Amino acid sequence: MEEQSLLYTELHLAILDLLKFHEDVLQELDLSGNRDPEHDEKMIQFKRIRAIVMERAHQNFELVEGDKIEAAKLLESRQHVDCETCKQVQKVEIIGEDVDEETGFKRDIVVCTVCGDEFMPMKPNNWDDRIKWGEYVYELLHEFGEEQPEIFEQLKLDIDLSDLNENKSKLSDSHNAVIDSRKKYIEALKAAEESLIPLHDDLLMAKLYLLNYNQNEASA
Ligand SMILES: [Zn+2]
Repeated sequence: MEEQSLLYTELHLAILDLLKFHEDVLQELDLSGNRDPEHDEKMIQFKRIRAIVMERAHQNFELVEGDKIEAAKLLESRQHVDCETCKQVQKVEIIGEDVDEETGFKRDIVVCTVCGDEFMPMKPNNWDDRIKWGEYVYELLHEFGEEQPEIFEQLKLDIDLSDLNENKSKLSDSHNAVIDSRKKYIEALKAAEESLIPLHDDLLMAKLYLLNYNQNEASA
């Protein structure tokens, strides 16, 4: 596994450190002619533990990296929006934030880098609100269609109200599924991390035992 695709926690590093200690002890014993009778079994066991730690570190990396990519994508889309004056997508500078009183959506206040006008893009500035916003747009269209169906005809929009409702619930379902699976993944990672604690403790106890044993040997 590539070292740059690993993100170690403190627990991972502590375990790797202990593995190194125990492997060194085994090697030293071997070199000095006092080979541990369980040398090979122990080495294999340490190798297994190291592989588990690296797998965890890799999952950790993927999660954090995925978040970074999402955050970069979001920022990119907040900085390139339809300018109300230029009537096209322009690069904008984000200068503030506003909370919509009615919907609670947080939106950016931006300045177009081309015409210099200040405005608020329609889309909210964060993922959570954007998810709700997608559903909100369907809801608005639905209300609109119920109250003034003739507008759809005038605008030559071939929109069926029951389709709108169905699309909205499909969108909502898929968003919930994404949120849910991420939550489950994070919980699984947390449980996997906690399962490393007894491994760490065993290795630490064994180290303390060895150090204590050596000290007693030396003073005897
Ligand atoms: Zn502009």
